[in-house]
Amino acid sequence: MKLLLLGPQGSGKGTQAARIAAEYGLDKIETGQMLRDAIAASSELGRRVESLVHEGRLVPDDLMTELIEERLEGVEGFVLDGFPRTLGQARALDALLADLGKELDAVFFFDLPVEIARGRLLTRASDEGRADDTPEAIAQRLAEYHEKTEPVVEHYRTLGKLVPVHADRSVNEVFAEIQQALDQVAAR
Ligand code: AMP
Repeated sequence: MKLLLLGPQGSGKGTQAARIAAEYGLDKIETGQMLRDAIAASSELGRRVESLVHEGRLVPDDLMTELIEERLEGVEGFVLDGFPRTLGQARALDALLADLGKELDAVFFFDLPVEIARGRLLTRASDEGRADDTPEAIAQRLAEYHEKTEPVVEHYRTLGKLVPVHADRSVNEVFAEIQQALDQVAAR
């Protein structure tokens, strides 16, 4: 299965990505984590993206598209969290999969009011201490989401791929909702 998780930061995508990957035997691909690893390793990529990530700004599409193309090479089933975040990235992913004769099975949209997302991010900030969890960077990330990622949600809605999820529920309830939807995908 090839799955995308879309939704604001703080909507629980990362937690669900881990559960989905374990339950269905998929590769979990998290672009934010890939970038944080690159920054920690001080690689060339890490040095290029460090200040953008820490400020909560998006990394340019060409860099991200290259990264994801390499990461997807030879991968059969995946759950992708954090990509695509712009229409340009979405079109690049669609083209890449079309070239390979593949298509997405479902795009889950974690629907969560922005104020709840902000509250969750502020709580996580004190728990995890991520470098981009300052109030300024959180505000910037949510603004980027609204401006650049919401159009991606509409893109997949138009393509008939979007599966909305009630992201304000408990982890178990959200996972149950996802499993139900995936049972239907598997039965197709
Ligand atoms: P995340 O862990 O998904 O919250 O991502 C953390 C940060 O990594 C984001 O705020 C961006 O700075 C950067 N990032 C992750 N994925 C992407 C992407 N697909 N496009 C651009 N920037 C990204």
